[in-house]
Amino acid sequence: MTLVKESNIRPNNMIKKMNQLRKNDMAMFKSNSFISVNCPSCNSKKYTFQFKKSKFTFVECKKCLTLFVNPRPSVELLEKFYSSSKCMNYWAQIYQKTEKSRIKNIFEPRLKLVQKVLHENNIKKINHLVEVGAGYGWFCRLAQKHNLANSITAIEPSEITSKKCKEIPKINVIESTIEKIPKLNADVIVNFELIEHLFEPKPFIKSCYNGLKSNGLLILTTPNFFGLDMQILKKEHDSVVAPNHLNFFNPNSISLLLKSIGFKKINIITPGILDIDIIMNKLNTNIISEKNFPFFSYVKKQNNSNLLLDIQKLIQKYNLSSSMLISAKK
Ligand SMILES: [Zn+2]
Repeated sequence: MTLVKESNIRPNNMIKKMNQLRKNDMAMFKSNSFISVNCPSCNSKKYTFQFKKSKFTFVECKKCLTLFVNPRPSVELLEKFYSSSKCMNYWAQIYQKTEKSRIKNIFEPRLKLVQKVLHENNIKKINHLVEVGAGYGWFCRLAQKHNLANSITAIEPSEITSKKCKEIPKINVIESTIEKIPKLNADVIVNFELIEHLFEPKPFIKSCYNGLKSNGLLILTTPNFFGLDMQILKKEHDSVVAPNHLNFFNPNSISLLLKSIGFKKINIITPGILDIDIIMNKLNTNIISEKNFPFFSYVKKQNNSNLLLDIQKLIQKYNLSSSMLISAKK
Protein backbone atom coordinates (compact mmCIF):
# COMPACT_ATOMS: atom_id res chain seq x y z
CA MET A 1 0.00 0.00 0.00
CA THR A 2 1.22 3.50 -0.83
CA LEU A 3 -0.21 6.69 0.58
CA VAL A 4 -2.72 8.03 -1.93
CA LYS A 5 -3.36 11.74 -2.08
CA GLU A 6 -6.91 13.00 -2.12
CA SER A 7 -5.83 15.75 -4.54
CA ASN A 8 -4.95 13.10 -7.17
CA ILE A 9 -8.61 12.26 -7.59
CA ARG A 10 -10.14 15.54 -6.40
CA PRO A 11 -7.89 18.42 -7.55
CA ASN A 12 -8.31 21.30 -5.07
CA ASN A 13 -8.92 24.05 -7.62
CA MET A 14 -11.55 22.01 -9.47
CA ILE A 15 -13.36 21.07 -6.28
CA LYS A 16 -13.42 24.75 -5.31
CA LYS A 17 -15.04 25.64 -8.61
CA MET A 18 -17.56 22.80 -8.27
CA ASN A 19 -18.57 23.95 -4.81
CA GLN A 20 -19.13 27.44 -6.18
CA LEU A 21 -21.39 26.03 -8.91
CA ARG A 22 -23.17 23.91 -6.31
CA LYS A 23 -24.13 27.02 -4.35
CA ASN A 24 -25.95 28.42 -7.41
CA ASP A 25 -27.58 25.06 -8.17
CA MET A 26 -29.17 25.01 -4.74
CA ALA A 27 -31.79 27.45 -6.04
CA MET A 28 -33.63 24.47 -7.54
CA PHE A 29 -34.31 23.10 -4.06
CA LYS A 30 -37.16 24.47 -2.00
CA SER A 31 -36.96 22.83 1.39
CA ASN A 32 -40.71 23.18 1.96
CA SER A 33 -41.26 20.69 -0.89
CA PHE A 34 -39.04 18.00 0.63
CA ILE A 35 -40.43 14.62 1.68
CA SER A 36 -40.11 13.15 5.19
CA VAL A 37 -38.87 9.58 5.43
CA ASN A 38 -38.23 6.92 8.07
CA CYS A 39 -34.74 5.57 8.70
CA PRO A 40 -33.49 4.15 5.36
CA SER A 41 -31.96 1.22 7.18
CA CYS A 42 -34.27 0.05 9.99
CA ASN A 43 -37.42 2.04 9.11
CA SER A 44 -37.57 3.60 12.60
CA LYS A 45 -39.49 6.86 12.91
CA LYS A 46 -37.30 8.01 15.80
CA TYR A 47 -34.37 10.23 14.98
CA THR A 48 -32.51 13.20 16.37
CA PHE A 49 -31.39 16.37 14.63
CA GLN A 50 -27.63 16.47 13.97
CA PHE A 51 -26.86 19.49 11.78
CA LYS A 52 -27.94 21.54 8.83
CA LYS A 53 -25.73 21.91 5.76
CA SER A 54 -26.85 24.17 2.94
CA LYS A 55 -30.60 23.56 2.65
CA PHE A 56 -30.47 20.05 4.01
CA THR A 57 -31.11 18.68 7.48
CA PHE A 58 -29.14 15.66 8.66
CA VAL A 59 -30.66 13.44 11.35
CA GLU A 60 -29.46 10.33 13.15
CA CYS A 61 -31.65 7.26 13.64
CA LYS A 62 -32.03 6.62 17.38
CA LYS A 63 -32.07 2.88 16.82
CA CYS A 64 -29.33 2.07 14.29
CA LEU A 65 -27.44 5.40 14.20
CA THR A 66 -27.68 5.79 10.43
CA LEU A 67 -27.17 9.45 9.51
CA PHE A 68 -29.61 10.55 6.83
CA VAL A 69 -31.00 13.60 5.11
CA ASN A 70 -34.55 14.16 6.30
CA PRO A 71 -36.74 15.52 4.81
CA ARG A 72 -35.27 14.95 1.36
CA PRO A 73 -35.92 16.01 -2.25
CA SER A 74 -38.21 13.80 -4.32
CA VAL A 75 -36.89 11.26 -6.83
CA GLU A 76 -37.96 13.57 -9.68
CA LEU A 77 -36.08 16.52 -8.22
CA LEU A 78 -32.99 14.37 -7.67
CA GLU A 79 -33.12 13.25 -11.28
CA LYS A 80 -33.34 16.87 -12.37
CA PHE A 81 -30.33 17.73 -10.22
CA TYR A 82 -28.21 14.91 -11.66
CA SER A 83 -29.17 15.57 -15.26
CA SER A 84 -29.19 19.36 -15.42
CA SER A 85 -27.25 20.98 -12.57
CA LYS A 86 -24.07 22.86 -13.41
CA CYS A 87 -22.11 21.30 -10.56
CA MET A 88 -22.89 17.73 -11.65
CA ASN A 89 -21.96 18.63 -15.19
CA TYR A 90 -18.64 19.96 -13.91
CA TRP A 91 -18.18 16.91 -11.69
CA ALA A 92 -18.35 14.76 -14.83
CA GLN A 93 -15.44 16.82 -16.19
CA ILE A 94 -13.42 16.33 -12.99
CA TYR A 95 -14.19 12.64 -13.10
CA GLN A 96 -12.97 12.25 -16.67
CA LYS A 97 -9.96 14.47 -16.14
CA THR A 98 -8.82 12.29 -13.24
CA GLU A 99 -9.55 9.03 -15.11
CA LYS A 100 -5.98 7.77 -15.09
CA SER A 101 -5.49 8.40 -11.39
CA ARG A 102 -8.94 7.03 -10.52
CA ILE A 103 -8.32 3.81 -12.42
CA LYS A 104 -4.95 3.34 -10.75
CA ASN A 105 -5.96 4.37 -7.23
CA ILE A 106 -9.60 3.33 -7.07
CA PHE A 107 -10.67 0.94 -9.82
CA GLU A 108 -7.66 -1.38 -9.94
CA PRO A 109 -7.60 -1.82 -6.13
CA ARG A 110 -11.39 -2.28 -6.28
CA LEU A 111 -11.01 -5.11 -8.79
CA LYS A 112 -8.39 -6.73 -6.53
CA LEU A 113 -10.78 -6.47 -3.57
CA VAL A 114 -13.60 -8.03 -5.55
CA GLN A 115 -11.27 -10.86 -6.60
CA LYS A 116 -10.34 -11.36 -2.95
CA VAL A 117 -14.00 -11.52 -1.88
CA LEU A 118 -14.75 -13.98 -4.71
CA HIS A 119 -11.83 -16.13 -3.59
CA GLU A 120 -13.08 -16.09 0.00
CA ASN A 121 -16.47 -17.23 -1.27
CA ASN A 122 -14.92 -20.04 -3.35
CA ILE A 123 -16.03 -18.47 -6.62
CA LYS A 124 -13.42 -19.27 -9.28
CA LYS A 125 -15.10 -17.73 -12.27
CA ILE A 126 -18.40 -15.87 -12.44
CA ASN A 127 -20.90 -16.94 -15.06
CA HIS A 128 -22.90 -13.69 -15.09
CA LEU A 129 -21.58 -10.53 -13.45
CA VAL A 130 -23.81 -7.46 -13.20
CA GLU A 131 -22.63 -4.00 -12.24
CA VAL A 132 -25.40 -1.61 -11.19
CA GLY A 133 -24.60 2.06 -11.73
CA ALA A 134 -21.70 1.27 -14.04
CA GLY A 135 -20.95 4.93 -14.82
CA TYR A 136 -18.31 5.14 -17.54
CA GLY A 137 -17.83 1.37 -17.43
CA TRP A 138 -14.31 1.50 -16.00
CA PHE A 139 -14.91 -1.38 -13.60
CA CYS A 140 -16.59 -3.51 -16.29
CA ARG A 141 -13.68 -2.87 -18.61
CA LEU A 142 -11.19 -4.03 -15.99
CA ALA A 143 -13.37 -7.02 -15.07
CA GLN A 144 -13.40 -8.06 -18.68
CA LYS A 145 -9.68 -7.52 -19.12
CA HIS A 146 -9.05 -9.81 -16.15
CA ASN A 147 -11.53 -12.40 -17.39
CA LEU A 148 -13.62 -12.16 -14.23
CA ALA A 149 -16.83 -13.47 -15.78
CA ASN A 150 -18.23 -15.29 -18.81
CA SER A 151 -20.71 -12.49 -19.38
CA ILE A 152 -20.88 -8.97 -17.98
CA THR A 153 -23.90 -6.68 -17.82
CA ALA A 154 -23.64 -2.98 -17.06
CA ILE A 155 -26.78 -1.28 -15.77
CA GLU A 156 -26.54 2.48 -16.08
CA PRO A 157 -29.50 4.89 -16.18
CA SER A 158 -27.71 7.92 -17.65
CA GLU A 159 -27.83 8.20 -21.43
CA ILE A 160 -24.40 9.85 -21.64
CA THR A 161 -22.50 7.38 -19.48
CA SER A 162 -24.33 4.28 -20.73
CA LYS A 163 -23.12 5.28 -24.21
CA LYS A 164 -19.56 5.08 -22.85
CA CYS A 165 -20.32 1.58 -21.51
CA LYS A 166 -21.55 0.55 -24.96
CA GLU A 167 -18.14 1.41 -26.39
CA ILE A 168 -16.65 -1.51 -24.45
CA PRO A 169 -16.75 -4.65 -26.57
CA LYS A 170 -18.70 -7.69 -25.36
CA ILE A 171 -20.47 -5.93 -22.48
CA ASN A 172 -24.27 -6.02 -22.29
CA VAL A 173 -25.51 -2.55 -21.42
CA ILE A 174 -28.97 -1.83 -20.05
CA GLU A 175 -29.84 1.87 -19.90
CA SER A 176 -32.08 1.70 -16.86
CA THR A 177 -32.15 1.19 -13.10
CA ILE A 178 -32.17 -2.28 -11.56
CA GLU A 179 -35.60 -1.66 -10.00
CA LYS A 180 -37.10 -1.69 -13.51
CA ILE A 181 -35.47 -4.94 -14.66
CA PRO A 182 -37.53 -8.05 -13.83
CA LYS A 183 -34.99 -10.84 -14.38
CA LEU A 184 -31.21 -10.78 -14.30
CA ASN A 185 -30.08 -14.24 -13.19
CA ALA A 186 -26.82 -12.87 -11.91
CA ASP A 187 -24.24 -14.90 -10.03
CA VAL A 188 -22.63 -11.74 -8.68
CA ILE A 189 -24.02 -8.20 -8.52
CA VAL A 190 -21.68 -5.33 -7.69
CA ASN A 191 -22.33 -1.66 -7.12
CA PHE A 192 -19.92 0.97 -5.92
CA GLU A 193 -20.70 4.22 -4.07
CA LEU A 194 -24.32 4.09 -5.16
CA ILE A 195 -26.65 3.30 -2.28
CA GLU A 196 -25.82 6.51 -0.39
CA HIS A 197 -27.35 8.48 -3.29
CA LEU A 198 -30.73 6.78 -3.32
CA PHE A 199 -34.02 8.22 -2.17
CA GLU A 200 -35.08 4.69 -1.24
CA PRO A 201 -32.25 2.23 -0.54
CA LYS A 202 -34.47 -0.68 0.52
CA PRO A 203 -36.26 -1.34 -2.81
CA PHE A 204 -32.84 -1.11 -4.46
CA ILE A 205 -31.36 -3.79 -2.22
CA LYS A 206 -34.51 -5.87 -2.76
CA SER A 207 -34.01 -5.59 -6.55
CA CYS A 208 -30.41 -6.74 -6.16
CA TYR A 209 -31.68 -9.70 -4.14
CA ASN A 210 -34.23 -10.55 -6.83
CA GLY A 211 -31.62 -10.18 -9.56
CA LEU A 212 -29.37 -12.81 -8.00
CA LYS A 213 -29.58 -16.57 -8.45
CA SER A 214 -29.90 -18.44 -5.16
CA ASN A 215 -26.54 -18.41 -3.38
CA GLY A 216 -25.58 -15.43 -5.53
CA LEU A 217 -23.29 -12.79 -4.09
CA LEU A 218 -23.85 -9.07 -3.67
CA ILE A 219 -20.81 -6.82 -3.29
CA LEU A 220 -21.24 -3.12 -2.61
CA THR A 221 -19.29 -0.16 -1.31
CA THR A 222 -20.60 2.89 0.54
CA PRO A 223 -19.28 5.40 3.09
CA ASN A 224 -19.05 4.21 6.70
CA PHE A 225 -20.14 7.06 8.94
CA PHE A 226 -18.40 5.42 11.90
CA GLY A 227 -15.09 5.67 10.03
CA LEU A 228 -12.28 7.93 11.16
CA ASP A 229 -12.41 10.88 8.77
CA MET A 230 -16.22 11.06 8.91
CA GLN A 231 -16.27 10.94 12.71
CA ILE A 232 -13.62 13.66 12.92
CA LEU A 233 -15.05 15.95 10.25
CA LYS A 234 -18.80 15.17 10.30
CA LYS A 235 -20.50 18.23 8.80
CA GLU A 236 -17.17 19.51 7.42
CA HIS A 237 -16.57 16.34 5.41
CA ASP A 238 -16.79 16.97 1.66
CA SER A 239 -18.67 13.69 1.19
CA VAL A 240 -21.30 14.71 3.71
CA VAL A 241 -23.04 16.62 0.98
CA ALA A 242 -26.67 16.62 -0.06
CA PRO A 243 -28.57 16.03 -2.22
CA ASN A 244 -25.85 13.74 -3.62
CA HIS A 245 -25.41 11.71 -0.48
CA LEU A 246 -28.57 11.06 1.47
CA ASN A 247 -27.77 7.90 3.48
CA PHE A 248 -24.73 7.32 5.68
CA PHE A 249 -24.75 3.78 6.97
CA ASN A 250 -22.45 2.16 9.49
CA PRO A 251 -21.44 -1.53 9.64
CA ASN A 252 -24.37 -2.38 11.92
CA SER A 253 -27.05 -0.48 10.02
CA ILE A 254 -26.07 -1.74 6.56
CA SER A 255 -26.16 -5.29 7.99
CA LEU A 256 -29.65 -4.68 9.37
CA LEU A 257 -30.84 -3.49 5.99
CA LEU A 258 -29.37 -6.47 4.13
CA LYS A 259 -30.75 -8.96 6.67
CA SER A 260 -34.23 -7.41 6.47
CA ILE A 261 -34.28 -8.35 2.76
CA GLY A 262 -33.04 -11.90 3.36
CA PHE A 263 -29.29 -11.66 2.74
CA LYS A 264 -27.03 -13.94 4.78
CA LYS A 265 -23.32 -14.28 5.52
CA ILE A 266 -22.73 -10.55 5.59
CA ASN A 267 -19.08 -9.59 5.68
CA ILE A 268 -17.76 -6.05 6.03
CA ILE A 269 -14.28 -4.63 5.57
CA THR A 270 -13.16 -1.00 5.37
CA PRO A 271 -10.46 -0.84 2.71
CA GLY A 272 -10.38 2.98 2.66
CA ILE A 273 -7.11 4.64 1.75
CA LEU A 274 -7.85 8.33 2.24
CA ASP A 275 -8.98 8.88 5.85
CA ILE A 276 -5.76 10.36 7.17
CA ASP A 277 -5.07 12.44 4.05
CA ILE A 278 -8.61 13.86 4.14
CA ILE A 279 -8.18 14.87 7.81
CA MET A 280 -4.75 16.39 7.19
CA ASN A 281 -6.08 18.40 4.24
CA LYS A 282 -8.83 19.89 6.42
CA LEU A 283 -6.26 20.70 9.09
CA ASN A 284 -3.92 22.31 6.55
CA THR A 285 -6.69 24.50 5.17
CA ASN A 286 -8.00 25.44 8.65
CA ILE A 287 -11.43 23.89 8.05
CA ILE A 288 -10.78 22.19 11.38
CA SER A 289 -8.43 23.84 13.84
CA GLU A 290 -5.25 22.38 15.28
CA LYS A 291 -6.41 23.67 18.64
CA ASN A 292 -9.51 21.48 18.59
CA PHE A 293 -7.66 18.46 17.23
CA PRO A 294 -4.31 18.46 19.05
CA PHE A 295 -3.61 14.81 18.25
CA PHE A 296 -3.76 15.42 14.50
CA SER A 297 -1.84 18.66 14.95
CA TYR A 298 0.87 16.63 16.68
CA VAL A 299 0.84 14.03 13.89
CA LYS A 300 1.15 16.84 11.33
CA LYS A 301 4.20 18.28 13.12
CA GLN A 302 5.98 14.92 12.80
CA ASN A 303 6.06 15.55 9.04
CA ASN A 304 6.53 11.85 8.43
CA SER A 305 4.79 10.22 5.48
CA ASN A 306 5.59 6.72 6.80
CA LEU A 307 3.69 7.54 9.97
CA LEU A 308 0.65 8.63 7.93
CA LEU A 309 0.87 5.47 5.86
CA ASP A 310 1.09 3.27 8.96
CA ILE A 311 -1.87 5.04 10.57
CA GLN A 312 -3.91 4.44 7.41
CA LYS A 313 -2.88 0.76 7.41
CA LEU A 314 -4.09 0.40 11.00
CA ILE A 315 -7.37 2.12 10.16
CA GLN A 316 -7.89 -0.39 7.37
CA LYS A 317 -6.86 -3.38 9.41
CA TYR A 318 -9.25 -2.65 12.28
CA ASN A 319 -12.21 -1.69 10.07
CA LEU A 320 -12.13 1.95 11.10
CA SER A 321 -12.07 3.57 7.69
CA SER A 322 -14.89 5.66 6.27
CA SER A 323 -15.03 3.58 3.12
CA MET A 324 -16.61 0.15 3.52
CA LEU A 325 -17.05 -2.86 1.30
CA ILE A 326 -19.85 -5.26 2.08
CA SER A 327 -20.50 -8.71 0.69
CA ALA A 328 -23.65 -10.74 1.30
CA LYS A 329 -25.14 -14.01 0.05
CA LYS A 330 -28.66 -14.62 -1.19
ZN1 LIG B 1 -32.37 3.09 11.81
